[in-house]
Amino acid sequence: MYTFNYGCHFFRQLVRLHDPARPLQVEIHPGLHCDRYQCPHCFGHGQRPLPGKVLSAPELGRALDDVMAVDPLIIVSGITTEPLTHPEAPALLQAIRSRGLRLERNLTIQSR
Ligand code: SF4
Repeated sequence: MYTFNYGCHFFRQLVRLHDPARPLQVEIHPGLHCDRYQCPHCFGHGQRPLPGKVLSAPELGRALDDVMAVDPLIIVSGITTEPLTHPEAPALLQAIRSRGLRLERNLTIQSR
């Protein structure tokens, strides 16, 4: 018996039709930590803020300028980090919006 595998078909079509020089999406994880660590499914509990230098809004803007011509979907998310903990989070989002890029986001807005 033959069973059609939709997932396999989708990815084969994606590979066949997609030009690797033209990214479909760009995922950005700008957060350094999370100020909640309360979601039961999160494995970031107890994690300290990540060390190191963060990407500034102008640096992100220059990176976006490099990919604007192919109009990728921009995803703002995090892996055990909340994007809004970036010190320039509003400016980062503005850098995306001002370029008219499609934006998908996974942000936790906390009311205090
Ligand atoms: S990093 Fe995201 S998933 Fe984890 S606790 Fe914070 S908001 Fe929840």
